[in-house]
Amino acid sequence: MKIAVYIHIPFCQQKCCYCDFVSYAGAQALQQPYIAALCREIAGRGGVFAKIGITINSIFVGGGTPTCLSATLLSELFTCIKQSLPLTATAEWSVEANPGTVDERKLTILLEAGVNRLSLGVQAFDDRLLHTIGRIHRSVEAVQAVRLARQVGFTNLNLDLMHGLPGQTLAAYQESLATAVELGVEHISAYSLIVEEDTPLAGQLERGELRLPDEETDSAMFELSHDYLPAHGYEHYEISNYARASKRCQHNLAYWQYQPYVGFGAAACSFDGKVRATNTADVQQYIEQIAGGQSPVADSEELSRETMLAEYTFLALRTTDGVNETDFATRFSIDFRAYYRNILTNLMEEGLIADTAKGIRLTRQGLRFGNRVFASFLP
Ligand code: SF4
Repeated sequence: MKIAVYIHIPFCQQKCCYCDFVSYAGAQALQQPYIAALCREIAGRGGVFAKIGITINSIFVGGGTPTCLSATLLSELFTCIKQSLPLTATAEWSVEANPGTVDERKLTILLEAGVNRLSLGVQAFDDRLLHTIGRIHRSVEAVQAVRLARQVGFTNLNLDLMHGLPGQTLAAYQESLATAVELGVEHISAYSLIVEEDTPLAGQLERGELRLPDEETDSAMFELSHDYLPAHGYEHYEISNYARASKRCQHNLAYWQYQPYVGFGAAACSFDGKVRATNTADVQQYIEQIAGGQSPVADSEELSRETMLAEYTFLALRTTDGVNETDFATRFSIDFRAYYRNILTNLMEEGLIADTAKGIRLTRQGLRFGNRVFASFLP
């Protein structure tokens, strides 16, 4: 069996004001014991994979900011991953990096370990916006990070960009897209800002200290990504993701295709096709549990058949390939169109999905209001 692996690094140099990911700033003292615990978890479970015939198609090391670790800790972690996990010869191995935390030594450690895809959290090529959202880097550092990654030898780069940021104009967003394209990266993720509850950004907006772009501008930014990036050679293959030929992110595709995955580290999630298990988000507790030989799983849920059908469907609909009805029938022994007849009819009438020659997919309108579509499949 082939699976995907996610490895979580819950540390950042500074917390961005919109972020609700499990990541802690100013926790340097925990980094060394955390990496030791993480390596122990990876080596322990990784050793079992080979014995039971599991190989790994993709690894994603994310966070947090993996590259905020020291070169010594990075080297320890990536050596352990390389030695413990049975990667296939063509496996994709991605690492998230913040342009403010990369240098030649760290990137060389990653490349030499076998990392073949670097995902840089750029968000915008606009210093004023970067400052507003609390990023530690500036635009010039993002450009330098791309050049440095190329110089070190990375041939597959992703840039994360955001739109709908406080004070962002359509022209500023277009400039960020244009700079990303000019840099010639292989992949661009263009995300819409989501204001999460209890983040500093939510408070700033509530107090009127910041303002989001109006709905019309936000919508224009969304449309701009869909027009501009394909016009510049990037295939639009998921709501927010664009890739040059054969550079789709294999790891994220595994999630969208409802493949099994194993998560290592605090807050990491695993899925075996039926049960979803999540490790404790408490870094100290994670370290203690691993040291004591206990499982770090804090929560697990066996999914009902209805939930699995719904999750499979809305994850597949995120992609422009849409639902693979043959795969659906093989997995669940059920006819997709018959099972969801009423929901599909309603969504087609609303213009949110379409029955195309390639199957059922989101329309352009559906891409914009994906959450409405996805909610309608939930049991
Ligand atoms: S760098 Fe990423 S994970 Fe860290 S605080 Fe910012 S958005 Fe969150």
